[in-house]
Amino acid sequence: MPKYVYTFAEGDKHMRDLLGGKGANLCEMVRMGLPVPPGFVVTTDACRAYLSTGHEPAELAEQLGVHLRELEARTGRSLGDPADPLLVSVRSGARFSMPGMMETILNVGLTDASVVGLVRHTGDERFAFDSYRRLIHMFGKTVYGVADEHFEQALEEGKQAKGVTSDQDLSADDLRTVVERYKKIFADHTGRDFPQAPHEQLQLAIRSVFDSWNSDRAVVYRRQERIPADLGTAVTVMSMVFGNLGADSGTGVAFTRNPATGGRGLYGDYLPNAQGEDVVAGIRNTMPLSQLAQLDRGNFIELVSIMERLEHHYRDLCDIEFTIERGKLWMLQTRVGKRTAAAAFIIASQLIDEGAIDPDEALRRVTGAQLMQLMFPTFDLERAPAPLATGVPASPGAAVGHVVFDAHRAAAANTPTILVRLETNPDDLPGIIAAQGILTSRGGKTSHAAVVARGLGKTCVCGAEALDIDLHAGQLVVGGTVIREGDLISIDGGTGKVYLGEVPVRPSPVLRHLTEHPTEAATDPLTAAVDRLLRHADYRRRLRVFANADTPADAARARRLGAAGIGLCRTEHMFLGPRRALVERLILAETDRERQNALDALLPLQRDDFERILAEMDGLPVVIRLIDPPLHEFLPSLHELTAKVATARAEGRDPGHEAVLLDAVSRMHEQNPMLGLRGVRLGLVIPGLFAMQVRAVAEAAAARVAAGGDPRPEVMVPLVGAVQELEAVRAEAQRVLAEVENAPHIPIGTMIEVPRAALTAGEIAEAADFFSFGTNDLTQMGWGFSRDDVEAAFFPRYLDLGIFGVSPFETIDKIGIGRLIRIAVAEGRTARPHLTIGVCGEHGGDPDSVRFFDQAGLDYVSCSPFRIPVARLEAGRAAAITKQ
Ligand code: PEP
Ligand code: MG
Repeated sequence: MPKYVYTFAEGDKHMRDLLGGKGANLCEMVRMGLPVPPGFVVTTDACRAYLSTGHEPAELAEQLGVHLRELEARTGRSLGDPADPLLVSVRSGARFSMPGMMETILNVGLTDASVVGLVRHTGDERFAFDSYRRLIHMFGKTVYGVADEHFEQALEEGKQAKGVTSDQDLSADDLRTVVERYKKIFADHTGRDFPQAPHEQLQLAIRSVFDSWNSDRAVVYRRQERIPADLGTAVTVMSMVFGNLGADSGTGVAFTRNPATGGRGLYGDYLPNAQGEDVVAGIRNTMPLSQLAQLDRGNFIELVSIMERLEHHYRDLCDIEFTIERGKLWMLQTRVGKRTAAAAFIIASQLIDEGAIDPDEALRRVTGAQLMQLMFPTFDLERAPAPLATGVPASPGAAVGHVVFDAHRAAAANTPTILVRLETNPDDLPGIIAAQGILTSRGGKTSHAAVVARGLGKTCVCGAEALDIDLHAGQLVVGGTVIREGDLISIDGGTGKVYLGEVPVRPSPVLRHLTEHPTEAATDPLTAAVDRLLRHADYRRRLRVFANADTPADAARARRLGAAGIGLCRTEHMFLGPRRALVERLILAETDRERQNALDALLPLQRDDFERILAEMDGLPVVIRLIDPPLHEFLPSLHELTAKVATARAEGRDPGHEAVLLDAVSRMHEQNPMLGLRGVRLGLVIPGLFAMQVRAVAEAAAARVAAGGDPRPEVMVPLVGAVQELEAVRAEAQRVLAEVENAPHIPIGTMIEVPRAALTAGEIAEAADFFSFGTNDLTQMGWGFSRDDVEAAFFPRYLDLGIFGVSPFETIDKIGIGRLIRIAVAEGRTARPHLTIGVCGEHGGDPDSVRFFDQAGLDYVSCSPFRIPVARLEAGRAAAITKQ
């Protein structure tokens, strides 16, 4: 028979899948002998069975009965007993913490009869009726969906009738009246009386916690946090203890270290004579935990010793919730606590020093995403005012600008702006590109604004619901402050906070250290911790980390940040600016002589580009990719030319050269330039273009050798789909290389970025010295959607629908595109066992994707210079996780 219910003594901390994080940790505390109110856990299996069939599994009722009787025997009370009732809390608790997303019901077991018993047992009539009205409210809302406001209004009326403003000032009699009002509200909205059978209350409460797994906010939260939708929640049923039974009672939350800074020492809040929900709701001001030492020394000492034991036991920062009921301390919850990115690094490093964990474990406890946060500039919070509002931190960074409510005005502005919208849509794109940051009052991490901002690397805070934006009036109101277009605000994409005025920005000390003093010891604790874990990652990792860089300055920066070479030097930008005219001549050339003249003019310029990059990367590989532009980027605009020629003709003038140009540009015009005459296709169509580039590489290398350098260039062919394409380019390249004296050996490889190349990798490897996955194009062509258009056009909808949890241009689609990669690796290495294989698409710097590339057996990842430390860390983590 499946076991659906576990007493706390039967579980342990490893059973999170089955008992949820909260349940498993309660069990663990019981095992450790800590004071936990007795109770049991209904498993996630039971929840999943209920959610898939619509009714509780047959065995659950019987098992619940057995465990309830056992709990009653342990506590010496019966659920809802009119004489001296056992009351229980019913709480959700999934495998992954989803704070505030699911339901909790307290005081289950209170009825008209048992409330009398509670009065007698506690001697506190006011407390008993306050507890009863809380139950009716929570039960009505959670089980039957009665809106909060009905209950809140009734309570408000009760206070008004009495002429008081605080709940605390209501007497027992007042609360008795409130209970009667609440029961009427319940009956009016549900069509039934408030249930007076305690067992029915318990059964309905458990069911409603199951149901809350699929509440709207839980679904949205899971999507944002990438928590699988089919895990279900466990339900913890625990006998109630009360922190609101007088001055010798109270409740608090505490952390074993400071979760914001990582600083050692206790950290937390305490609220005397209160229940946990009062702390969370912020209704009353809490006192720092240290003051408990004066109020109740005995329990303070016990609490400190329990927290030390917990930290030692979990070997990590723990947070706890506790209650003191009439002088007796109870632990209600513990878990490994959430922390900021900075605290994560500092604590991991401290724990190595304390001998609690080894460096591999420390690596597993920090993430590349956290490191990325630490590399952005931040606001100097000591000089920041109180925030105006807090939204969803959707794309990191610290942005300051003038409020603009319209995307066109943001695009036209010549001062820094923050684009403020209810939500954004594709029409807002020019404004989003121009603004320093984006702020919206609606939507979460997958809203249009969030997706586009992340793609562009723009700071974004979205879903700041406290902002009342009035586009017609051109203002927003938040907490009594009116902000008009043009006013300065600051938004923090790392925390979601919004500030009035200009908050001073501090450059990241971590980035500064890594770029300016990478070999020196860091002095501040955060930078020292990051440095330490990065060094360990370097020691651990199998993957090499290269940079995508195509200027000497980028190459130098990448090298300082730890790049072991350049994995992608895109050459097309070297053809823009003043050289564009030469390229235009080359493309439009009608005779061999015209073409050769253009190539001859380009050659020395390219040679100089390569020589300077090779100098910066002396001794390290530099993979130079032959030109791969969509053709239209180098030609005059068809629209503009058409207009000019038409105007000239209308005015009776001879359009001259422009008519010739228009003719050529019309001939070459492509509907889908991304899928058109690009990459190797261009090289095969325009004679001499690739040969000029290869010659420039070889001559640059020869010049570096002559200057005493150690150049290691490699030539990479883009957009190959068939081995014949590569063979043709290779033959020509080898001929050119053979002509250049004193050049070092220069390997010739290919990108794998067309699905057909991945599927014929065995053949292609015969003609390639190396492979590099161009996952931008592989994703574009594998999914069949244009990387230029779709992110803004329909990705938000796809993310909402859960078609993917994250943009496949951001994190590699392991199932589909990943399959192409695995096929190409396997077939490539079968044909050529020592084939070097890397990746140079944007995914090379994405933390989640780096782990995939490690598993897929790649040799290196290549990413933008800024992401190199992130990739180093993630490559180290991949090795440490695999070893585990
Ligand atoms: C790619 O397609 O992943 C790639 C690196 O090439 P580009 O982005 O230049 O097309
Ligand atoms: Mg590409």
